[in-house]
Amino acid sequence: DQQTQAAQQLFSLLKKSVRTLNPYHVEPAMPRIKLDANENNWLAGRFQPILQERLESLPIHQYPDSDCLALREKLAALHGVDREQVITGVGSDQIISWVIQAFVEAGDQVLVMDPTFSMYEIDTLMAGGEPVRVPLGEGFVFQPEPFLEKARETMPKVVFLTNPNNPTGGVIAPEVLRPLLASLAQLRCVIAIDEAYYEFYGETVADLIDTYPQLIILRTLSKAYGLAGVRAGYALASEAMMDALGRVKPPYHMSGLDQLAALICLEHADALQPVLQKVIGWRETMEKEMKALALQEGEDRLRVFPSRANFLLIRTPLAAKLDQRLRESGIMVRGYGESGALANCLRITVGTETENKELLAVLQEVFQPPA
Ligand code: PMP
Repeated sequence: DQQTQAAQQLFSLLKKSVRTLNPYHVEPAMPRIKLDANENNWLAGRFQPILQERLESLPIHQYPDSDCLALREKLAALHGVDREQVITGVGSDQIISWVIQAFVEAGDQVLVMDPTFSMYEIDTLMAGGEPVRVPLGEGFVFQPEPFLEKARETMPKVVFLTNPNNPTGGVIAPEVLRPLLASLAQLRCVIAIDEAYYEFYGETVADLIDTYPQLIILRTLSKAYGLAGVRAGYALASEAMMDALGRVKPPYHMSGLDQLAALICLEHADALQPVLQKVIGWRETMEKEMKALALQEGEDRLRVFPSRANFLLIRTPLAAKLDQRLRESGIMVRGYGESGALANCLRITVGTETENKELLAVLQEVFQPPA
């Protein structure tokens, strides 16, 4: 009928680069225990009372500060850089999209590791660019030589390195990353280091923004800071980089609510340390327990990949069954289906003590059911 025809016509109006994209699917479920999105469950409810109090004086009839001056000031002080070297976004997702909007046009290549966070590739495709994936090595270990080789071969406009990587949890050690950056800096490209999980790892190359104007360090308040619901990310880079991003940043991108919540969260950053220690401690406990189980079961039955983030990636032929049993127990984790590099993998966020214990109990029961 006419409506179907009109709908088809609408589809044909879509940009070619968008036609082949699928909507980013996020499970709508609100599970009892949410371990699927690398949030910080230890901080649930922590900032609400302060936010509530401070909301009273927020002038929501006015547009917010388009330049997020107070927030950037706070971040600059925290990092010992100039305010002009800090930019904030509606999640680091938004800053990733600006990097690509500013630098990538049709036909340009963007180098990423594989597997990694999917937004680099999605934004690149939307811009008409071509993502170039460099596979990680055995055990999802990053290999600098093939990466650099691919960079020299493809001469990408932008390179993304994710450290620690999502969803593998693996890292690029400083003694590998720093020389790699020096080599990449010889090529004419933007280098984006996504440090979304930095706080759980502790190693950064943020000090190099004064050395390499083409370097940008991406951070977020969604993970360690427990502020995923607010959508607040930031980046550290040279003023030259900020000038580039300022050209694509829309005005008033972060709402007054976002800015206020992010500011409150950063004002309490010192309270974060003990929480981080808990998460890291539990990551190590979970890894140890899972590895003990893997040792009994054999590596082809259960494999645990070393992680320095706030999650663990496992691979098992029982992935679908385990996922099902977890769901029945009200626990949501992230699955990756049965094909591709992440076939039969599950990514499990480190939760609170009781959440982790429940998860381990289900794992134990699936692998070693009581006779
Ligand atoms: N980078 C990486 C590596 C991530 O894992 C995520 C969240 N999944 C993001 C960026 C985006 O985080 P946000 O937009 O919440 O800051």
